[in-house]
Amino acid sequence: MIQWLTALINLDTPSDQKAALDALAERLGKQFQECGAETELVENRKAGNHLIARFFPGSQEKKQILVLGHMDTVWEVGESQRRPARVEGGKIYGPGAFDMRGGLTLMLALASYLSHLSERRAPFLRPITILVDSDEEVGSQTSRVLIENEARQSEAVLVLEPCLPGGALKTLRKGVGNFVISAKGVAAHSGVDYHKGVSAIQEIAHQIVDLYRLNDFQKGTTINVGTVGGGSRSNVIADHARIEVDLRIASVAEGQRLANHIHQLKPQLEGARLEITGGITVGANGPDRANFQAGPEFGSRNRD
Ligand SMILES: [Zn+2]
Repeated sequence: MIQWLTALINLDTPSDQKAALDALAERLGKQFQECGAETELVENRKAGNHLIARFFPGSQEKKQILVLGHMDTVWEVGESQRRPARVEGGKIYGPGAFDMRGGLTLMLALASYLSHLSERRAPFLRPITILVDSDEEVGSQTSRVLIENEARQSEAVLVLEPCLPGGALKTLRKGVGNFVISAKGVAAHSGVDYHKGVSAIQEIAHQIVDLYRLNDFQKGTTINVGTVGGGSRSNVIADHARIEVDLRIASVAEGQRLANHIHQLKPQLEGARLEITGGITVGANGPDRANFQAGPEFGSRNRD
């Protein structure tokens, strides 16, 4: 498992690198095949291919168990060369080790376990399906339908995302919103025509400060302005500026409230305009409490 995890950490597969993701899907597919799975690479033109591996697909008496994960990471190509996998104090560190090369390694271990079962012809009553998608880190836009289809045919879905600090089991997912806010102003020479200009950068700066006031840590709401850009030269009043905003919310209602608020933002400078696009891309998703009674206990039992 250490070798598998090390090899996975030392591959960089950011969500927008199709060739790297396709190669990893193929490589994992081969490993699952060697363990006796029937595999399928789901072609995806917009992003990396997705991978499905089916164990015991013939045993139809009971619904399948779905094991779900993703092969994209948030690190750029070259990151693992900069800080390759290393073992320190009994732990393995490296880009994506936690989220979720570790989960992929568990899948490989599961596949290896299942391969021994089939060799011994142990009676196995359920199909087990492993689904690894390529775009979780950017909102699962091309894998969503695939995940929903497989999940509908499943008795249970085990998502091998990493645990929370302390080892607690993750039983809900926050919603995500993505917005682009563009400010339009009026360009002018900052020396000669200062008062004819309307600075889009000044406008977007006001908006940034106000956006951060939407943070509500008690409700689980966080907002991040992740990129900012605009203007052309230091002596020209900027006629354009643009920010990208990432929003995380813990409930559907809170998501709705904030999305409405953002779409209704008004310019604060006279003569400036705002263009706002985007919305909630992933809904907040809490579990049915009754199904997760065992969750915290399971988490703490497995802590050490
Ligand atoms: Zn993850």
